[in-house]
Amino acid sequence: MENSRMPVVFVGHGSPMNAITDNPARTCWEELGKKLPRPKAIVAISAHWTSQGTHVLKTDKNRQINDMYGFPKELYAITYTPKSSPSLADKVLSLLRDLGQEDPGWGIDHGVWVPLCSMYPEADIPVVMVSTDMFAGPEGHFEVGKRLKPLRDEGVLIFCSGNVVHNLALCDYEMEGGFDWADAFDHEIRDAITDGDFETPKNYRGIPGARQAVQMPDHYFPLLTALGAADQSDPVSVFNDYRELGALSMTSYLFGA
Ligand code: ZN
Repeated sequence: MENSRMPVVFVGHGSPMNAITDNPARTCWEELGKKLPRPKAIVAISAHWTSQGTHVLKTDKNRQINDMYGFPKELYAITYTPKSSPSLADKVLSLLRDLGQEDPGWGIDHGVWVPLCSMYPEADIPVVMVSTDMFAGPEGHFEVGKRLKPLRDEGVLIFCSGNVVHNLALCDYEMEGGFDWADAFDHEIRDAITDGDFETPKNYRGIPGARQAVQMPDHYFPLLTALGAADQSDPVSVFNDYRELGALSMTSYLFGA
C-alpha cells in the first residue's frame, strides 16, 4: 500500500453512546478500519475543537479529552491515546501556511475517539488533531482541505469528524429516526455530493431545513474540509445514512476508495 493514495473520510459521530451500544454506525466503523488501506498516520479534523484560525495540535504525547457530561461510567472507562507525530504536525502547519497555527492545548476529544476506537481499537496509528475555525466560512474550510490534500500521497488518512445535521436543542432522546427537515437536508447534501456537486454543500444555507440542521456550523464544517481534500473525480461512497434522536445525522462519506 506504500504508493497508493489514501482516501478521505467524513464521519458522522452522533452521540458518544455510539461507542458502547450496539448500533449500525459502530459496526460500520469497525468494518471501515479493516477495509481501508492502513494509514501511516491520521490527521483528524475535529468538530469539537473550535478556534479562531485553524489550530494544529503539536505535542509529544496525545491526551484524551472526555468532553461529554452525564453519561454512564462505562463510556468514561474507554481510553484512547494514540501516539502523536510532531513531524506530521509540522508538515500540516507547512501545508496550511497562513491558515494554520500551532497549539498544544487540546487532545483527542470524543468526536474523534468515539469513531476511531472502533476503527482502530489498538490505538496504534499516530493522530494529529486539527481544529475547526469558527471564524472561517465555507470556502475557508474547503481551502483547508485542499491544502491538506497532498498528505493523501504520503499515506496519511484525512479524517473529518462532525455531523451534517446537528442540533442538540432540538434532539428528541426518545426518537429513533430524524425529523422530516433533518432527513430532507441530509438527503439534499448527500445527493449533491454523490453527483460530484461540491458547490451545493458549500452553499448549504440556501437548502430548506438549513437553519435547524446547521444551527451552529461546528459539526458541519468538517464535511467541507473533507470535500476540499477530495477530488470531484474520486469515487464516493455513503455509509451510515440515517438520522438519530431527530436532529443528528450519522451520514458519512468515503472519497477515493
Ligand atoms: Zn459531536
